[in-house]
Formats: sequence, structure tokens, C-alpha cells
Amino acid sequence: NDVDTFRDRLEGLVVPPKVLTRIEEELDKLSVLETGSPEYGTTRNYLDWLTAMPWGVHSADQLGLSHAREILDRDHDGLKDVKERIIEFLAEGTFKGDVGGSILLLVGPPGVGKTSIGRSIAEALGREFYRFSVGGMRDEAEIKGHRRTYIGAMPGKLVQALKEVEVENPVIMLDEIDKMGQSFQGDPASALLEVLDPEQNVDFLDHYLDVRLDLSKVLFVCTANTLDSIPGPLLDRMEQIRLSGYIAEEKLAIAKNHLWPKLLKRDRIPKKRINLTEAALKQVIEGYAREAGVRQLEKQLHSIVRKSAVKLLENDQQSVKVSVNNLEEFLGAPLFRQEQVLKGEGVVTGLAWTSMGGATLPIEAGKVHSLTRGFKLTGKLGEVMQESANIAYSYVLGHLSEYGADSDFFDSAFVHLHVPEGATPKDGPSAGVTMSTALLSLAKHQSVRSLAMTGELTLTGQVLPVGGIREKIIAARRSKIFEVILPEANRRDYDELPGFLKEGVTVHFARHYQDVAKVAF
Ligand code: ATP
Ligand code: MG
Repeated sequence: NDVDTFRDRLEGLVVPPKVLTRIEEELDKLSVLETGSPEYGTTRNYLDWLTAMPWGVHSADQLGLSHAREILDRDHDGLKDVKERIIEFLAEGTFKGDVGGSILLLVGPPGVGKTSIGRSIAEALGREFYRFSVGGMRDEAEIKGHRRTYIGAMPGKLVQALKEVEVENPVIMLDEIDKMGQSFQGDPASALLEVLDPEQNVDFLDHYLDVRLDLSKVLFVCTANTLDSIPGPLLDRMEQIRLSGYIAEEKLAIAKNHLWPKLLKRDRIPKKRINLTEAALKQVIEGYAREAGVRQLEKQLHSIVRKSAVKLLENDQQSVKVSVNNLEEFLGAPLFRQEQVLKGEGVVTGLAWTSMGGATLPIEAGKVHSLTRGFKLTGKLGEVMQESANIAYSYVLGHLSEYGADSDFFDSAFVHLHVPEGATPKDGPSAGVTMSTALLSLAKHQSVRSLAMTGELTLTGQVLPVGGIREKIIAARRSKIFEVILPEANRRDYDELPGFLKEGVTVHFARHYQDVAKVAF
């Protein structure tokens, strides 16, 4: 009978006294209730959850660093600094004797391997892994459960997780914590803090379970695309590890060593039956998957595998060869053509940084007519970016002759400044130097050299530091731009980049807009 089943489950568990008392009460209740009555059902259900928690059950951590390195390297190419951070984290854990009570935050654009690194951390530690997305969550109850008085009440995700993994110390991954927030019932920050904060989660209270649960042994790993929408108090308690995206060479290695073998293995197609040439693979990366991560690349490769499978069967072929020449048979026309960098008078390439990773951001300035003086802006620009456009306009207007342009150019010019790719919202001050260069190029009737730039501009022409240098350099390389202008104050960020990112890049550091103009024209 049920009572015996529940008692059997408690065998070998170290149930906290208060919980034990509750279980005994409920068992007493169950034994006097009539089987088949609704109350019997709810009580039984409740006991089912109470006795399914892994009270006092832990898995032993495996803290060997060389073992961890092996696993991280086996599953991931590149990501040297990320792996190093994780090793450091494990090393600390070895001394503390415990890695629980920490919250890691893996932040970076889609498809760069955040989820996959999280899995490897669990495997390296020899811990169970459970993952759920908080991105779509609408209701606090999904995290903290419903009160039992609700019809159809359920415990929240954390309780569900512990039931599933059967230990108190799994690695729990909370995906997309930056996408929570919107339309969330209750306060998402405080709900998450209750779960994540080691000071609060020793006695986490799920509304359904209604007894305290210790989550402090859990290693939480969160993932996010940006930091902007993560509540401050939460962010303060997290150890951030940034993944910034891959350059073509890294993608090639990832595709060859991981994605392609994984896809073939999954479909059980012997390796030699589909021969994808290296040149074709490079073309897939260049022409079909220009993104920070490798998710799109993986999809395109999958598509090659599917179409090859059809060919193998229909033509009764021993093998198919996928080369640059026949690639379009598999993937259609390339999505990206060689160099899409806009050029000409009034056009300048900026470098932007969004939740999707770095990107080149062309900026166009054009003269609409000569009837009046005026200035308008388009391109779905955020408030800060509009302000920097205004600063750029004022600065250039005030210094025309200094930079060799007609000093009354703007007196009879209605100027339009546009940031293409209108569908993407853009914000931030980092396009200041780019916008002023576009305006100056227009006024000087002179195109700029083929380079990209980023930097905030002040009214007096000072160039201030900006974020995302690494992502921006990656983006410039992706667009085949190898000369960049960066703010002087970002010199250190640039110097700290790994060698393979800096290779072949000419960089100019600017303190003042004069330094920018000198290089750009
Ligand atoms: P999202 O933000 O969209 O959730 P993500 O960062 O979690 O993206 P993953 O799902 O971990 O991305 O990675 C996408 C795919 O690319 C996975 O199959 C993963 O194994 C593979 N991958 C990503 N980076 C690497 C790498 N450095 N080495 C090998 N494989 C990788
Ligand atoms: Mg993910």
C-alpha cells in the first residue's frame, strides 16, 4: 500500500527532523482517509513529492584539474580563456572543498557554446546536470511552485529538478536569464535571488513543498546573451565568464572536429560516404553562416548531410562529394556575397556590439537639398545614439575648416544621417566617431579609406573608451576589414586580446578626433 511505499522511499535518506515530522503527519492523514477520495489523492500526491526529494544525498565531486581540462578540451575547440577561467574556478573549489554556493554566468551571443560548456562543467565535476530555461517564464509559481490549495498545484522547477537528478548537488543551468523580466508575475529578481543567492537558498521554500529545502550545494550556471536586463543585485553575485564569438579559422576547426563528425554520427552515416572538402566548408562559413556563433553553421551542415543522404539512396551511390563547385546544389545561393561593405562619400564603417555579438555597422550621411540648413536622423536609433549623432553634427559643424572642409558647407545643406539595417534597434554612444567621420566625409567631398572605427565622441572632440573591443575586432575580421581605429583608452583591452585575433590587424589609437581624421582621410 501507499504508506509502505512512501516509508520505503525514506530508507537511507537523511531527512531533516522538521520534514520528517511533516511526512509523519501526512502519512497518518493518509491512513485514515478513504482511498479514492479527492483528499486522498492530493495527500498522496504531496507525499509523493516530499519523499521523492534527495534528502541528504550527494554525489562526490571530482575536482581533478587534468581530468577537467581533458573534458573541456574534448568537447570544445578554442575558448582558451573561458576554459582557463573554469579551471581556476575548480582550483578554488578544490581548496574550499566545495564548488557549491557559487553562481557562474556564461554570457555571449547565440550559438557560441554556453550551454555546451555548462554541460561539460557538470561532466568534469562528475555531477548530475539539469537545465531549464527561465526565458519564457511568466509566473513566479514556475520557480517557486503553487500553494497546495490550488487545484492541480505543482512544485516549481527547482523541486522538479532535484526529483529528477536524485542528488542535492547537481549542476543546474538556468538558460536565458536575461529574457526573464518582461510580463513576469511578481518580482523576477527577488524570485531568482531566493533561488541563487547562497545566503537565501540554504532554506529555499517552495510553495507546494511547504518545507525548507537546501539548495546551497547546487552549482548554478546561468546563461545570457546580454547583461543589460539582468537585475543588478543578481549580477553582483555572479561570476561572469564571457564568450565573445568566433573568427572564421576557429569556426573551421569547430566544424571539422566537432559539428561535422557529430552530425554524421547522429545519422549513422559512415564518414567516408560524404566527402566535404575543406574549401567547401570554408565557403559554407563565409557565404552561409556569418554569425558570431556556430548555430547557423551547424544547421547548414545538417542540411548538407540530409541532402547527401537522399543522393546516396536515390542514385545508389557509394559516396557524394561536396565541393565549392556543387555546394549550391546543397544549400542554394549564398546568403552573403563577398564584401558588402558600403563605400563612397559620406559612408563610414562603424563597429557595433549587440546581444548577437559584434557587427560592422555602416553609417551614411547624405545631403538632401541645399534650401535650408538642417539635420535629420533615421535607422531606429536609441536615445543615447541620437544624442551622439547630435554631438557629431555640432562638432563637425564647428570645426569644418580645421579639417579642410568648406566652412559654410552646412549653411546650405539639409543633411540626412542614416544607419542602415533599419530593422535592428541600435543604441549606445560608440558610433560617435563614425557618425562625425561620415558627416565630415560628406562635407569634404572625400571618401574615407577602407577601415572601421569605434569610439564615443564628446563635444570638444575627445574620444572616449567603448565596450566590446573583442567582439568588434571579430566582426571586423568577419567583414575582411583589417584596419581599425579604437579609442586610446581601450589600448589595454586590445593588447590583452589573444594573438590570433590581432594577427594582420593594423590598429590606430585615438585620443582626440584629430587622430581619427588623420587616419581616416
Ligand atoms: P544560445 O544562446 O542560443 O543558447 P549557446 O551559446 O548555448 O547558444 P550551444 O547550444 O552551446 O550555444 O552551441 C551550439 C552548438 O555549437 C552546439 O552543438 C555546440 O556543441 C557547438 N559548439 C559551440 N562552440 C563550440 C566549440 N568551441 N567547440 C565545439 N563545439 C562548439
Ligand atoms: Mg544555450
